[in-house]
Amino acid sequence: PLVLGIESSCDETGAGLVRDGRLLGHAVASSMDAHARYGGVVPEIAARAHVHAVRPVIRRALDEAGVRARDIDAVAVTTGPGLAGALQVGLAAAKGLAYGLGVPLHGVHHLAGHVAADTLEHGPLPSPCVVLIVSGGHTSLLLVRDLAREPIAHLGDTLDDAAGECFDKVARVFGLPYPGGPAIDRAAREGDPGAVVFPRPLPGGYDFSFSGLKTAAARWAERHAGGVLPVADGAAALQEAVADTLTRKAVAACAEHGVGTLVVVGGVAANSRVRALAEERCRAAGIELRVPPLRLCTDNGAMIAAVGDLLVRAGAEPAPLDVSVDPSAPLEYAALHPVGRG
Ligand code: ATP
Ligand code: MG
Ligand code: FE
Repeated sequence: PLVLGIESSCDETGAGLVRDGRLLGHAVASSMDAHARYGGVVPEIAARAHVHAVRPVIRRALDEAGVRARDIDAVAVTTGPGLAGALQVGLAAAKGLAYGLGVPLHGVHHLAGHVAADTLEHGPLPSPCVVLIVSGGHTSLLLVRDLAREPIAHLGDTLDDAAGECFDKVARVFGLPYPGGPAIDRAAREGDPGAVVFPRPLPGGYDFSFSGLKTAAARWAERHAGGVLPVADGAAALQEAVADTLTRKAVAACAEHGVGTLVVVGGVAANSRVRALAEERCRAAGIELRVPPLRLCTDNGAMIAAVGDLLVRAGAEPAPLDVSVDPSAPLEYAALHPVGRG
């Protein structure tokens, strides 16, 4: 089937077209620059930006894919989690298109989209596989079997901040530009990761904790008040601590569950040190590592289309047209069809 995916959960408006597991084309618009002066995403600004971007982004995706709207067999859209007003814009567009074209609508969990992003580059996921989701708002270690049909098992989650949140907040303290994650990555290139060693909080099992690390990095920056802050060293050390804890637990989870494939997804999977250390440790442990290409790590519509395509091919029940959004939906199933909420 030809599936259109629409994403609008945060500050990216994305549309993508996927047919039978293959990415045909996609487009993304971001309101990131409009939020920069506030140091974080402003929900009302994000929602208004989606209103303006959603139609042209869908148009661009269709053009890039070389298909017409009337060729679309199903529409998939992020119904949560995310910002309520932002989600509603993408959902309204998706409902209008699905109704107008007379095709089924599928609500998709945003994080399942991050997972499915990898299939567009590397093909179907092996079952089972361990998935490390590291994004702006989430950090989880999952055991995934059949994304379209089976519940997603959580091996561990963050007890406090997400890894991306840790990067974004520490970047602010370091005086780096918004968004913080990519700025930390760039600054770290010139730094010595051993110049300062930040703590590596390792709570029990496969849970994570990043708030202690965030505080330690902030304290370290405060100690330089009045002098020159060696930002590059701090960025390199922070990245090292995050990459170390993430990959240590992810590889251990694969070993314990006898799983041969680790998939690392979400915005923080774009981090160069996370990618390099995951590669190194997976190779040493004889585990196959899969990481989506950079452009599919951060929010996009192609990953939502990828989930929609899996759901359609699995014969999943479509969403009713009165489906709503769930801004804080836990990740249980790839399909997310809240009604009468949001
Ligand atoms: P969620 O998916 O949890 O709802 P989100 O959609 O805002 O949150 P993503 O788009 O998946 O998050 O990722 C954005 C996050 O990724 C931000 O925290 C950003 O700083 C981080 N990020 C992006 N590139 C990098 C990088 N190179 N290094 C570190 N962090 C990065
Ligand atoms: Mg974003
Ligand atoms: Fe995301």
